[in-house]
Amino acid sequence: MRIPILAYHAVNIAGNDYANNDHVAFAADLRQIHAAGLRIVPLHWVVDELLGTAHRDLRRCVALTCDDGSDFDYYDLDHPQHGPQRSLHNCLTDFAYEFGVAAQPDLHLTCFVIASGEARVHIDRTCLIGRNWMTDRWWRAALDSGRIAIENHSWDHNHTAIPLPGIDGMERGSFHGVTNRVRADAEIAAASDAIDAVLAPARTSLFCYPYGHSTAYLREEYFPNFAGTHRMRAALGDGAQPVTKHSERWNLPRYVCGWHWKSPQELRAILDETPLADAG
Ligand SMILES: [Zn+2]
Repeated sequence: MRIPILAYHAVNIAGNDYANNDHVAFAADLRQIHAAGLRIVPLHWVVDELLGTAHRDLRRCVALTCDDGSDFDYYDLDHPQHGPQRSLHNCLTDFAYEFGVAAQPDLHLTCFVIASGEARVHIDRTCLIGRNWMTDRWWRAALDSGRIAIENHSWDHNHTAIPLPGIDGMERGSFHGVTNRVRADAEIAAASDAIDAVLAPARTSLFCYPYGHSTAYLREEYFPNFAGTHRMRAALGDGAQPVTKHSERWNLPRYVCGWHWKSPQELRAILDETPLADAG
């Protein structure tokens, strides 16, 4: 197993080119991944393989994720500066229409969303366009499409856009402060509860660290010891390595669009690390 996990941010819209628009990059990358002969599979399949809870042939595979969970993930929206944007979900639909469903039968995207509606309102006003484009109204439809999983990106991202004190006195703008049970339960277990309440009977089972910040407390104590509370099966970071059997379950690496690659050529180099035949 040697699987690159790619991460996108649908709110990254600073133009309409590959380098400054994650929707444009995502649509192009689907085609490049397919042309390279790789299969796109759900992230939870990768976790199943890692944990030994299921075995599938995952040679030459890639998994796709996106963070922060805005309406841009699911709905086509008209950006006030940069015009109509095809949602990531509809980029998947376009690909399936153009190439046929059988071309990538397991085509899938995992969206990590912020649980707190209040936090999302503040982030929408401060960091997006202030049009209430950070809602949970699309989560159920996205899940029902069968091509999207909705997973846990914390309660409030401990985001600086929120004009309220951080949980348990945490300084905002970082996840490095999540170093005790109170903070971990509030940021992770409470987020599982809130997202699951929207998705029931489906449930979240994967966590993605805000800012990519993991802490030793979370990796070594909270996630391994309190599974009954947080119900997570793995956590994702930004380590820029393919996931292998030796990857750290509570900080699985991902490659981030616009950071670890900025062009199709740079993505190619990441995909080329995936060996043609790796039975390991
Ligand atoms: Zn984030």
